[in-house]
Amino acid sequence: MSKPRIVVLGAGYAGMMTTKRLTQKLNPEEAEIVLVNKHNYHYQSTWLHEVAAGTINHNQARTIISDVINPNRVRLIYDSVAKVEKDENKVVLENSELSYDYLVISLGFVTNTFGIKGMDKHAMFIQDIDTAQMIREHMEYQFIQYKNSEEKNTDDLTILVGGAGFTGIEFVGELVEKVPQLCKKYDIDRRHVRIINVEAAPSILPMFDKDLVDYAIHSLEQRGVEFRLGTKINECTEEGFIVGEDNELIKAGTIVWTGGVTGNPVLGESGFELTRGKVTVNGDLRAPGEENIFIIGDCAWVMDEAAGRPFPPTAQAAMQHAETCANNIEALLHNYPLENFVFDDKGTVASLGVTDGIATILDGTKLSGKSAATMKKVVDNRALFLIGGLNMFLKKGKIRPF
Ligand code: FAD
Repeated sequence: MSKPRIVVLGAGYAGMMTTKRLTQKLNPEEAEIVLVNKHNYHYQSTWLHEVAAGTINHNQARTIISDVINPNRVRLIYDSVAKVEKDENKVVLENSELSYDYLVISLGFVTNTFGIKGMDKHAMFIQDIDTAQMIREHMEYQFIQYKNSEEKNTDDLTILVGGAGFTGIEFVGELVEKVPQLCKKYDIDRRHVRIINVEAAPSILPMFDKDLVDYAIHSLEQRGVEFRLGTKINECTEEGFIVGEDNELIKAGTIVWTGGVTGNPVLGESGFELTRGKVTVNGDLRAPGEENIFIIGDCAWVMDEAAGRPFPPTAQAAMQHAETCANNIEALLHNYPLENFVFDDKGTVASLGVTDGIATILDGTKLSGKSAATMKKVVDNRALFLIGGLNMFLKKGKIRPF
């Protein structure tokens, strides 16, 4: 009899961790493991704002998959997933097809523009390594063009960021570090460059307490970020955002939208019932009605029953889903009972640039400033270590002192 085949779709936090754990739990005779990913590299999604701002090189944020997953143990397929045909236990890829006995869907997030007119067309997104690099290059191009143009228009140097959640705030935190470097490089007066953050909600970073939020706003404002809070974006045009009741146009040369994410569109293409673009999974992380399909990471809508709302989509949760998912696949193979996912909240940390940040950790302790920035590096390095071991940590880790 042939071995059962476990197919993992997506090599982000959830997919890499699941694959790694499966290789540790199962011996090669028990099951064939296949990992499918669009690229031959894994990237740290939580570092993409740094790639977009240009404060780290894109190569630091990515790792060749075969450097951390043994291709003799796991079959690696680099291709794009188009859809899953659940009734036939088959995955349709751009260039081939693949059957499975057990399937893990961990294809991550895509940006959600909430239907704001023009946002898809005129704004850039921090979505993957390529889009992040495009932002960095576009921004630098604006500086070069400004320097070399005869009729200088300072609006071209304005960087407009929509959304004040994790991604938007961490991105402007990196920009306050990067902009002075670009000004120096191209001999441009720093006062000509504006970094504007626009948010419809009255405040930023809703996951943090007010005192930490106040700290973050003050720290970023001091370093040159202009906040337009409680300001609804009506439309995005080639020139900038049209905002508020009086349809004010905020002009910019670089426009970035970070206001929301949703699950990968492959879920809808595959006929899963969706809750805001994700699949509401059972306690054991299987898709409803499916015995052999797990949906994890940012594709999964996992309810926090105590709070009556879903857990936020985070790398922390994605890696914990992976542990439960790998345990449950092992249980299915061995006919053991499955376990339910229990989130172990280790806290929340947001960076505000290289040397500043805010954090709420474990027992509710709050940190701000350098200590929070250090905590952020510890979290980033821990994820590297969990996914790729000491080797990946030493190659890509954030180990330089401030
Ligand atoms: P991902 O890590 O996004 O991985 C998905 C993988 O699937 C990728 O490798 C992708 O290439 C691949 N893929 C996608 N579509 C296809 C396809 N069709 N075919 C084949 N492969 C495909 N979370 C935190 O916990 N802490 C933070 O500080 C934090 N900061 C963040 C900062 C930024 C800028 C961003 C963007 C996110 C941040 N997050 C943070 C959220 C975190 O990054 C996500 O929750 C996490 O990446 C989800 O993991 P995942 O494995 O589900 O998806």
